Amino acid sequence: MEKIRLGKSELLVSKLGFGGIPIQRLPEDEAVAVVKRCLDLGITFIDTANAYTTSEKRIGKAIRGRRQGLVLATKSTSRTSEGVKNHLKQSLQQLGVESIDLYQFHGVSDFKNLDIVLDPNGPMAVVEEAKKAGVIKHIGITSHSMDVAKEAVKSDCFATIMFPFNFITREPAEELLPLAREHDVGFIAMKPLAGGMLDNVTIAFKYLFQFPDVAAIPGIERIREIDEIIRVLEEPRQMTEAEQNEIQRLREELGTKFCRRCDYCQPCSEEIPISTVMVADSLIKRLPPARLFSDWIADSMEKATHCTKCGECEDRCPYGLPIREMIEENTNLYHAEKMKYQEQAVPR
Ligand code: SF4
Ligand code: SF4
Repeated sequence: MEKIRLGKSELLVSKLGFGGIPIQRLPEDEAVAVVKRCLDLGITFIDTANAYTTSEKRIGKAIRGRRQGLVLATKSTSRTSEGVKNHLKQSLQQLGVESIDLYQFHGVSDFKNLDIVLDPNGPMAVVEEAKKAGVIKHIGITSHSMDVAKEAVKSDCFATIMFPFNFITREPAEELLPLAREHDVGFIAMKPLAGGMLDNVTIAFKYLFQFPDVAAIPGIERIREIDEIIRVLEEPRQMTEAEQNEIQRLREELGTKFCRRCDYCQPCSEEIPISTVMVADSLIKRLPPARLFSDWIADSMEKATHCTKCGECEDRCPYGLPIREMIEENTNLYHAEKMKYQEQAVPR
């Protein structure tokens, strides 16, 4: 598999990496089998996190006896020295390894948190010490906020930046990537399928694979998914006119008020699955009524009617989305569609 250099870390990683979020949802033996299959296919870059519950342990099982040549990345959401120290210890144990190639500060999406991780006397001191001891090889950062990510890159304190990157939003390619290149910071693309909003795998990865120095880490849950992405990697990447038009159409459809389904807005006091409700307008366009008006979507939309408009979720959304307004719009739209469907279904 094609390898790329991850900025100043000088790590050579497979251009297609493995994102460790979805394997949490699988039974353990299936999860281990998915990771092993990815290794068999030549993926040498694996990203996980202390926050991804069972992910590290499952990856640890899958890589046993196969550590050599792998680039392992994990991360900590903690912002205290003690917390990061504990997370690092847990990650080493769960992954069953003596060192981690890339240790990242996870989800640094506001300036207050950036200041904390940049403070040389804060958790940075812990990771620097671990780096000196050879337990961590390189230090990286992940973020969902463009402004914070840019400052992180400019600080020259991180070897890599991980940021959501897909064709829906232009800023990563136009603003963050050139800056990362200037500072020789490795670029890792998360959410290549926009958190599940993009279902055309070919277009999504053709777009991403155009950038020769970007490593993508799609979350992989099924073996056929990885086979599909590898096919795109191996075929010519030139976009056809039809594909370019489709990108344009999707950009217009999803617009700027586009929820990335990161769930940073949680928890909601009313237990509203905000990210589902936020994309309801798109679900209405894509799904057949039998699915749209039953099960978890119906439950989510029912819960959305209990929104108290407290606004706490908006303070946490790194994209500054008007969540309250969008919940109201989507709930009204959903119920109007449901009524239309029920009227059509009544025999005359
Ligand atoms: S505004 Fe609504 S969705 Fe947001 S946290 Fe409050 S109750 Fe939950
Ligand atoms: S509303 Fe904002 S924080 Fe919540 S899932 Fe969407 S993008 Fe993420």
